[in-house]
Amino acid sequence: MSAISAQNLTKRYGKKHAVDGISFDIEQGEIVGFLGPNGAGKTTTLRMLAGLIKPSKGSSTILGKKVPSSSLLEVGTMIEEPSFYGYMTGRDNLRHAAKMHGGVSDKHIDEMLSFVSMDQASNKRVRAYSQGMRQRLGLARALLWRPKVLLLDEPTNGLDPVGIAEIRENLRTIAHEGVTILISSHILAELEKLVERILAVERGKLLYDGPLQQMLKRIDEKTVTYFLDALNPDALKYALSHLNIDFQSLDGGAIQVVIPQNDAASVISRLIQEGVQLIEARRITDNLEGAYLRLLKEDGRPV
Ligand code: ATP
Repeated sequence: MSAISAQNLTKRYGKKHAVDGISFDIEQGEIVGFLGPNGAGKTTTLRMLAGLIKPSKGSSTILGKKVPSSSLLEVGTMIEEPSFYGYMTGRDNLRHAAKMHGGVSDKHIDEMLSFVSMDQASNKRVRAYSQGMRQRLGLARALLWRPKVLLLDEPTNGLDPVGIAEIRENLRTIAHEGVTILISSHILAELEKLVERILAVERGKLLYDGPLQQMLKRIDEKTVTYFLDALNPDALKYALSHLNIDFQSLDGGAIQVVIPQNDAASVISRLIQEGVQLIEARRITDNLEGAYLRLLKEDGRPV
């Protein structure tokens, strides 16, 4: 039984498809990155999975039960910016949330506050919290009922690099305990260190569903980024323009170009033929950010 299953999930607002026929299955204990630029349909998908809005078409199940269902206590969600009572302290906000559903001890609330490194700040009123502190408190609230499935929408928004690393560690710990996590982000570097599988969405459609490493490899096979430096930078720019190759000027006169992998050797020899005196032509290893953005730019089709 899949922990999360989406079948042809679709959400239309008027004529616009916010989510357009997305299907996937996530097994128990998997931690999956839901990746896409702003407006791609991530939040809308997560809201449908959480039972907060109804799909226009398609359906989903969580832990084998059709959404919406009474299994929601087994699902921890943090979708969009978490909202709290500003006049209450962080701890009281969690107590209040716990009371609505019952069965959560003060001890467990303290454990969760400490898990997200909020023990110190938990007696402050939430209105004095930074965005990062609200995010941490939101995660603690999502964990209150010891969920088996976590749906997290950009949970590291507003956190500094140390905070991001901390939340990442927390999520790894939770995943090791068998919790299934679907986590959205448009900041790819964050997902790169956390997940092994990526669901990439753009304009409501699922572009890719598979291992992160495979996605990188396939993208890399399509195009490569080269760092070029020449004795005569103006001649290099002129030659690239002449060859119709877009380039980016770097500090110090060097150039960065993105070219199809199979063309790399011929581009370099043509530059030399054009009289460019190359000092350096070095292939740059891409990070996920660059690779993914290029994937979308190139054809917008599944890799
Ligand atoms: P972000 O990273 O900016 O949060 P997202 O990937 O989560 O983006 P969604 O918030 O799901 O994207 O939005 C997908 C599309 O659906 C966007 O074009 C958005 O404007 C549209 N949309 C979302 N909610 C509504 C709504 N209630 N009414 C009309 N359009 C909506």
